Amino acid sequence: MTGDGVPVICSRVGCREDAHWRIDWRNPKIHSPERRKSWTACDEHVGYLREFLSARSFPLDVAPIEVAS
Ligand SMILES: [Zn+2]
Repeated sequence: MTGDGVPVICSRVGCREDAHWRIDWRNPKIHSPERRKSWTACDEHVGYLREFLSARSFPLDVAPIEVAS
């Protein structure tokens, strides 16, 4: 989350859409328990990215990105 008005862009390769979701995840094999990676996703790709991670049995949390309006 930027909090400074910079648009957040989807993490999917090749996608330039505004991200509305944040996916926090880690790879238990290489990351320590307190380590978190964050991806951002647009509405179209949040499902794709979540499936990508869950297929690898990575722990993950999906949360909406708060947009100040
Ligand atoms: Zn996207």
